[in-house]
This record gives sequence, C-alpha cells and structure tokens, in this order.
Amino acid sequence: MTLYYGADYYPEQETPEQIRQDAETMAQAGFNAVRVGEFAWCKFEPSDGVFDWAWFDQALATLDAKGVHALVCTPTACPPIWMVEAHPEIAYVDNCGVARPFGARRHYCPNNATYIKYCVRVAAEMGKRYGRDPRVLGFHIDNELAQEATGRCQCAGCKKQFHAWLEKKYGTIAKLNEIYGTIFWGQTYTRFDQINLPAKSIEPGGTDLIDCYFDNPTLRLDWERFCSDGWVAFYEAQVRAIKPHTDKPVTTNTTGVWTNGMDYYKAAPSMDVAAVDEYVGLRSETMPGFGYAFMRGLKPGKPFWIVETSSGGGLGVWAREGVYQPYPGALRQSALHAFASGAEMHLYFQFRMFRFGAEQLEASVMGIDGIPDRRFKEFQEVSATARAWTPFLSASRLKSNVAVCFDYDTLWSSKIKPFCKYFNYQ
Ligand SMILES: [Zn+2]
Repeated sequence: MTLYYGADYYPEQETPEQIRQDAETMAQAGFNAVRVGEFAWCKFEPSDGVFDWAWFDQALATLDAKGVHALVCTPTACPPIWMVEAHPEIAYVDNCGVARPFGARRHYCPNNATYIKYCVRVAAEMGKRYGRDPRVLGFHIDNELAQEATGRCQCAGCKKQFHAWLEKKYGTIAKLNEIYGTIFWGQTYTRFDQINLPAKSIEPGGTDLIDCYFDNPTLRLDWERFCSDGWVAFYEAQVRAIKPHTDKPVTTNTTGVWTNGMDYYKAAPSMDVAAVDEYVGLRSETMPGFGYAFMRGLKPGKPFWIVETSSGGGLGVWAREGVYQPYPGALRQSALHAFASGAEMHLYFQFRMFRFGAEQLEASVMGIDGIPDRRFKEFQEVSATARAWTPFLSASRLKSNVAVCFDYDTLWSSKIKPFCKYFNYQ
C-alpha cells in the first residue's frame, strides 16, 4: 500500500518553467500525488476531434521527475465553446426553464446523447494515451457530478426520457395512476406524455418556484430516481470508455451527502475505489467522521481516496468571507485523522492560489506570493508521518462498532415531504 499525499493542480494555467518550480516545491513538501485535468477540455481538444496532449505530457514528465504521480481526470465538467456553439441543445436547463449559459462550469445535460458521445470519445482518447503510463496512478471521471444545482436537468430531451423511464417502470398509465394515487385532487393521467416535470427543486441552490408540498410525492420520488439513474449512466459511459485501455483504478469525486442528485450506492460497483471531496474545518478540536464512514460503506473493506480537502487559510471567494487561517497543528490533525479513518489518498484543494477566475484567491497550499509559510512545515510533517505510518496502516483494518443506515429514497422523501421543519435527514 502507498499513501498518496498531495494537491489538486492546474498545469493548464501555468508555464513550463512555473510547473518545474511547482514540482520542486511539491517535492520539498513531500507530496507524491496530484489530481489534474478536470477543467482543461478546451486545451485537450481545442477543436472538434483535434487533440493536443503535448503540453500535458510535458507537465506529467516534469512532475514525475520529482516523484509526483497524477490522478488524471476526464475534462467533461466543462464542455468547450466550440461544442456549445455547435450543439446548444447539450445545455443544462433548470427548473425555471433557463438554459445554463457558457461561462461558468457544469453547463451540460447528462442525458444528452450528443454530449455523451463527445464525453465517451475524450475519455477513450485519454485511456488510450495514459492507460499504461507509469506516471499516471488512476483516472477520475468529470468533477463533482450533479453538483451546483445541475442534478435535475429539465430540458425537452430529459422530459421525453422521463416519460419513457416511467412507461418502462409501470407498463401502463393505469398502473401509474394506481401506484401514485392520482385520484387524489383529480390528478389522473391518460397518457405518459401528459406528466409534467416538478417545478420546485430540492437541489441545493436550486430556484424555488412553488412548494413541492402540492406535488404528488410518489411522482416526485420517481423524478429523483430518474435523475440519479441518468447521472450513474453518464458516469458509467465514461468508465466503459476508459476501462479497455487500463488496469489502473477509475473513480469520480463524490461529494458525500452534499450533492443529493446521485445515488452513490448505485455508482459504487463501477468505482474501483470510493473517492470524496471533504472540506473539514481547521479551527476545531474535533474532526467529522461521517463522510469517511460513508466512503467506507460504499466499498466495504477497501481504503478510500480524499481528492479535495481544506488546505488552510485564504482570501477566498468560496466561503465568500475569506477563509480563516487554520489553528497550528490543525492541518496535521486533519490529515492524520483521514489516514487513520481509512484514507489511502489525501489531496488538498489546491496547490497554487488561482490568479484569475471564479475561484481566484481561494485557499491553497501555496499562497499568491509562492513563499512557504508556517503551514508548509505541517505539510512536511504530515508527509514524513505518512511514510512512517505506511507499514502499520497497510497491515491494519478499521473495525466499525456502530452502523448508520443512509438511504437515498429516505433522503429524497424527507425533502419532498418533511415530517417537520426542524427535521434534517442529512
Ligand atoms: Zn436534459
């Protein structure tokens, strides 16, 4: 067993000289892993079917020369402008009917056949090129699937597919009427295509139009299941594209129970390792345990990966009020807690503070001035401890004395029809 310790890194934003300097600093910190590529589609495939891997090859070589290996991501969280222009129908449509415009990220519908075709192609190209590359330690699909209020696309294509999904499940409209109890408030349908998509979203950050109290709760629950099935299928299409070219592990970054649009239990069989983004507080005497226990539950008996976590203080816009500097020792505490909880990989978001873009000035391992600060000593301490702990952790198994059941149907049901306003299943 190797313990991976490092950060998320964005070589597409840097010059070759800066990457050399960064690789050197990573080596001084004792880092041996980075996650790369998840937002760089416009650079991997600058026009339709034309791929450019040269800059990426060079970055991988520079990092590898300093003992840093890469978890390579498919870049499908950010369809490039040429694709959006040629195929405006791939856009994500929210519950107000607004198509998400190009200019941020996650602006796509996961059920759109054209988009899936492009995703499968870029994933297969990556698999062919890096599937046997010793500098690459694994693959990571997309970024935070269904996150940022993109879990429930309501485009015309999704509506049609939802009707087909219902017809496959119930066979006849009479059966659906019976199961849903649509006689209540005279909601009885005569055809599947009469069924509307719910206007009120339970998406974190989704726009609230009307209260879902008034919806048929069983129809709502089927809508959540349908949307989740779409995300699992979207993820698995890329896994299938990469797998023929590699024996390396393939996964994606789940977001614990924050994103409620995808049933991770259904995706877990096609994850070689469970992986999570878990941003822990660094000004506390306690550390959260549920997120890591949830990962252990996805792949029982196997270690899990943390592919994004808190790296410390920053001026960041992420918290919209700056990110406080961690208490001395808190970075060490959080990393060692993670390894002791069964993590095999621990990557900070992110290595170097962004100089531009939506996440400008966000907390990072290295500040904007690039000068190691007091946190740097802790990163060095953690990497030394992780190396020393590796034989012990490889030989040990974590035993749980208590089980907590977390179930998506219950989660969705409790959001659609809460028992009381104080109840939160999460
Ligand atoms: Zn859609």
